[in-house]
Amino acid sequence: MRPLREGLLILSRSRALKRLVTTLPVSSSVVRSYVPGERVDDVVRAVTRLAEQGLHATVDHLGEDTTDVEQAEAAVAAYAELLKQLSAHGLSHRAEVSVKLTAIGLALPDEAAPGGGFKIALENARAICRAARNAGTTVTLDMEDHHWTDATLAILRELRKDFPETGAVLQAYLHRTEADCRDLAYEGSRVRLCKGAYDEPADVAWTDPADVDRSYVRCLKVLLAGQGYPMIATHDPRLIEIAASLASRYGRAQGTYEYQMLFGIRPLEQQRLAEAGETVRVYVPYGTEWYGYLMRRLAERPRNLSFFLTSLVSKK
Ligand SMILES: Cc1cc2nc3c(=O)[nH]c(=O)nc-3n(C[C@H](O)[C@H](O)[C@H](O)COP(=O)(O)OP(=O)(O)OC[C@H]3O[C@@H](n4cnc5c(N)ncnc54)[C@H](O)[C@@H]3O)c2cc1C
Repeated sequence: MRPLREGLLILSRSRALKRLVTTLPVSSSVVRSYVPGERVDDVVRAVTRLAEQGLHATVDHLGEDTTDVEQAEAAVAAYAELLKQLSAHGLSHRAEVSVKLTAIGLALPDEAAPGGGFKIALENARAICRAARNAGTTVTLDMEDHHWTDATLAILRELRKDFPETGAVLQAYLHRTEADCRDLAYEGSRVRLCKGAYDEPADVAWTDPADVDRSYVRCLKVLLAGQGYPMIATHDPRLIEIAASLASRYGRAQGTYEYQMLFGIRPLEQQRLAEAGETVRVYVPYGTEWYGYLMRRLAERPRNLSFFLTSLVSKK
């Protein structure tokens, strides 16, 4: 299974395949199962439905690896509009936003502006944090591949000076993450722990799934024993069970941590946890740039690939 996963993750970076695949109507069943739609209206409807089921949301305006300043600015404008709509529909207490820093300029070259991509992404992230605060909600910075880990955490530190509510994401597959968890397990610090979705080399990451799971549990212990607000992002039934018993071992009351899952994945489990009194937040991506996101989801579950290929072949 591993070579297939690696292949799909390499294809997630292919611009040629992206051009071909994105001609597929978004209503194609596989895309639709992970992405509720391309427009703000679609995502507002999806968040409203989740709220009716007692679930929270974190909304991602899809996009990554932005190649010009205008595209980065367009992403910021899209977040501003999204936050305005969430507030107008009374959803701010239920929904925050997730942001990929490469979608708002982190990967831009030094020539793009003084200070380069780092400065552009920081200023753009600040604008989104301000819009989120005005709307009565928060921002979480998604974590991308390991080339961006240091820059993302540096931007997080800057943002938290003015917006301490800004959330971070740490990936259990990276060797460094247990130490990063220790650094970020302080009061008020919201940290999403996930396994990690990119194809990473063995010198920086565990590649055996059992090692990733063991690392996840070690990181979870650090976060649950610490003073911060852990966001346990996994669909893995065994890890969810372990998280529940660790939460009780460390005296964590419900609401001092939360579970997070992706839109369309294990919805019954999302419901079960919410009905048991847990805070459950669903990551809801929307927009036209769904290709990279979809390929990472297929890589996690290659058995979905056959449905996807069928819809590709049968496209008009
Ligand atoms: C809220 C949230 C935010 C995330 N943010 C980031 C981020 O910022 N950076 C990052 O690198 N990664 C992120 N991820 C992705 C994460 O790193 C994993 O790639 C993903 O969650 C799959 O890992 P898992 O823990 O669910 O375990 P797995 O072992 O992959 O899956 C466990 C079980 O979940 C179900 N499942 C998992 N994936 C799928 C799928 N695609 N389709 C159908 N069923 C599936 C299956 O039943 C599977 O057996 C995020 C995940 C979540 C839930």
